[in-house]
Amino acid sequence: MGEPDPTDPDGRDGNVVCGFTVDLVEHAPRMPAGVSRVEIRLGGDTVGDLDYRTCSECRFGVLESVRVATAVRRRGLASHAVFAILSAHPAYQWSTSTITDTAEATAFWTALDWPGIGGTLPYCPHMRRADEHNP
Ligand SMILES: [Zn+2]
Repeated sequence: MGEPDPTDPDGRDGNVVCGFTVDLVEHAPRMPAGVSRVEIRLGGDTVGDLDYRTCSECRFGVLESVRVATAVRRRGLASHAVFAILSAHPAYQWSTSTITDTAEATAFWTALDWPGIGGTLPYCPHMRRADEHNP
């Protein structure tokens, strides 16, 4: 935190993978503790997205899903997006919804050094309340 990123000197969330600019487009939740979505765009095309939710009251976040198109996997796109979310929510405790138990998924989470695997409740009461209003 706080260190200037040499690949991103003007503070935008652009990054470059294989010569294409990566943009993260954030879609805010419809209510507090509801689901947020981050679209991952590569050279202007949407190639993946992440669903997550955060509660500012509990300082708790849940990463619900990560999808990246097969053709552009293993290039750090999902990691880039995940770390953008984590660094936007300092000192939050994180968890995930169920992680698919495949070799690829396990390798992905291990490579990320994800802080929230296991041990925490999947949702706080505010997230459950948001779900009740958003069936
Ligand atoms: Zn909460």
